Amino acid sequence: MIIFREANSLSNYLASCKRKGSVIGFIPTMGALHQGHISLVKTSLSQHWLTVSSIFINPTQFNDQNDFKKYPITIDRDIHALEVAGCHVLFLPDIHEIYPNGTSQVKYFELGPLEQILEGKYRPGHFQGVCQVVERLLQITEPDHLYMGQKDYQQCMVVNKLIELMNVPIKMHISPTTRADSGLALSSRNTRLSVEEQMKASMIYQLLLAIKNEYSSTSIGDLQTKTLACLQQNGFAKVDYVSIANALTLQPVPDAEKPEIAIALVAAYMGDVRLIDNMLL
Ligand code: AMP
Repeated sequence: MIIFREANSLSNYLASCKRKGSVIGFIPTMGALHQGHISLVKTSLSQHWLTVSSIFINPTQFNDQNDFKKYPITIDRDIHALEVAGCHVLFLPDIHEIYPNGTSQVKYFELGPLEQILEGKYRPGHFQGVCQVVERLLQITEPDHLYMGQKDYQQCMVVNKLIELMNVPIKMHISPTTRADSGLALSSRNTRLSVEEQMKASMIYQLLLAIKNEYSSTSIGDLQTKTLACLQQNGFAKVDYVSIANALTLQPVPDAEKPEIAIALVAAYMGDVRLIDNMLL
């Protein structure tokens, strides 16, 4: 695996590979890699793309400075995991490579209603930060294919919107959520939970499954109330939302007209660790 730390060197290298016919698959990450990230790398490799991943903990997408400070960093292990997976290229920039003009005057993206709901509502500014870093990474790597995880479903929708705004021919692929045996969605933040907390946190998955099973027979209000109560009674310190939404717009589903493609989404705190998960219904 070739490791690049400078944006220009990486751009030049990838441009020359493209001229020789390589198709580029790109997987942006914030590191502390787990099998969820590696599954994205493997999906790109299975298509025989020149597979590029990046590790950059983007400060502008953290609305909570405590979360930023506590974000796990495991670079040596990450490099090893990517090498074992067979990743071809890793971009490991420092902040000046991503924000050459600093982070105080960054671009604003018109994301529409997506930015006002769910993660957008509870993490103000988060998706602007996501777009700032992803736009820059896409400009540097100019991939043909972009791989992202369904765990961050709303982020996938936002990045799709970004690709539309950038007007670039990048195909986005959404990979299924990789889970622990307990059902808990793998997340870098899980390393901040004790084993006992991780077991408790898998309740989110059990409740999403229950919503899926009962979606056609139970009212949306009842499903939400029951799920919220279960989370509150089973060790979750705070629940930001339990939403049953139209999977194409993320707008809440009215009982009278349950859409064909709906999704249940949850954001809740185990201790001070904020966890999100979702399931298509
Ligand atoms: P992050 O490092 O958290 O920014 O995640 C980088 C990419 O990996 C994003 O596209 C995430 O959606 C994806 N990802 C994170 N966790 C998982 C998971 N458990 N399964 C599949 N993809 C994931």
